[in-house]
Amino acid sequence: MLRLWNTMTRSVEEFRPIEDNKVGLYTCGLTVYNYAHIGNLRTYLFEDILKRGLQFCGFQVRHVMNITDVGHLTSDADVGEDKMEKGAAREGKSAWEIAEFFQRAFVADLRRLNIIQPDLWCKATDHISEQIAMIRTLEEKGYTYIIGDGVYFDTSRLSDYGKLVRLDVEGLKAGARIEMVEGKRNATDFALWKFSPRDAQRQMEWPSPWGVGFPGWHIECSAMAIKHLGERLDIHCGGIDHMAVHHTNEIAQAEAALGHPWVNWWMHGEFLVFPREGSAEAVKMSKSSGEFLTLDRLIEKGYDALAYRYFCLGAHYRQQLAFTWDAMDAAVNAYGRLKRAVLELRPACRGAEPLVEKYMQEFRQAVEDDLNMPRAVAAMWGVLKDAQADKGSVYATLLAMDVVLGLGVAQMQEESLGDEAQVIEKLIHDRLEARKARDFARADAIRKQLSDMGIVLEDKPGGTGWRKA
Ligand code: AMP
Ligand code: ZN
Repeated sequence: MLRLWNTMTRSVEEFRPIEDNKVGLYTCGLTVYNYAHIGNLRTYLFEDILKRGLQFCGFQVRHVMNITDVGHLTSDADVGEDKMEKGAAREGKSAWEIAEFFQRAFVADLRRLNIIQPDLWCKATDHISEQIAMIRTLEEKGYTYIIGDGVYFDTSRLSDYGKLVRLDVEGLKAGARIEMVEGKRNATDFALWKFSPRDAQRQMEWPSPWGVGFPGWHIECSAMAIKHLGERLDIHCGGIDHMAVHHTNEIAQAEAALGHPWVNWWMHGEFLVFPREGSAEAVKMSKSSGEFLTLDRLIEKGYDALAYRYFCLGAHYRQQLAFTWDAMDAAVNAYGRLKRAVLELRPACRGAEPLVEKYMQEFRQAVEDDLNMPRAVAAMWGVLKDAQADKGSVYATLLAMDVVLGLGVAQMQEESLGDEAQVIEKLIHDRLEARKARDFARADAIRKQLSDMGIVLEDKPGGTGWRKA
């Protein structure tokens, strides 16, 4: 029996899909104005474990993930710039170009982390007519009003607005909100459709019954989830920062439009954070905090993407996870130990060995207990360390567990000694290119990075050599 935490009821409940054993799963995708950082990726790893856990328990999952490529503003209060147009200006490219570029980079990240691709990817800009249709429905039902900068959802029309986070609507009314769009009737009202500015043309804009503009961020996920997964949905997820605004507003608009409850399970992954020296308060990894670490960066530093996956399995998805290089190195060591053990065991496996039930049972219980990965990983180490168990059976058990853990047991190969050397050679090449382009700051930064990896460069007339310090 699979039990999962439901943010809506604040409890762990037995999971039951609406229809037989079929599960509709919608996960909020990346806003593609930049690379995903490893905090974002932690959330996608949690959702991957959820999907694999459901499949392990015998459910058939239909998974839809969106790509946000328009309308996500830099502030949750419907003011600020569109992140896409801002990103385009930063890169000196069009919003369409950066959307395509960062979407590709995102999919590549998921692949390297062994995250199973969704059955369907959908983009906000490909669903403008569905979003307009949904706003029209809300308008016909009397939930909207129009002000100078757009069409807004009137949250005071709902008696249960904010139920997902037990929002104190009265308290909010009394308290002043710093950023408030002029004309907005209630602090919690949100934009469904924003008008393009009168004095400037946006790169991404469309005609609508209300005027040229673009959809607000929240409407895309509801419109696409309903289109692709139906009017009643089993599970909708995201990171915890989505609870108070994005998902709260999704519930408001979707239930108002549909006229009935919409999603049975809301699930949220906790943050990846950085501990702060001399402070009890950790900092959330974010694109604007300056602590922006990508998977590429980890790989450049010589880390295996799957070692990061292993690192994330070390904490339950509802617990914050603190990123430190020491903790990451510990994960690398453990992942390396696992790899060596797997390679030693593999020749003993003929393919028909029974599983080691004791550990398989522990593992299943951990998965069924709200996806408790630290316990699941402990069960994996349990079977590995059991000296009495038949080696072939141990290997078969690891393979069975890897259906959920996704650590790539079947694909593990002899550690190629070339891997680290390749990373170093690539960095040396990049440094040379930077010097040719007279970008000395970048060249120095690469030298520093190599020196952090314990590599000493030796510039010689014939090229650049290296040695370990
Ligand atoms: P965004 O592109 O901002 O919509 O974020 C993509 C996903 O990453 C969302 O589900 C966020 O909730 C999640 N997220 C953002 N920051 C973090 C973090 N530091 N740790 C874990 N998840 C995060
Ligand atoms: Zn969403």
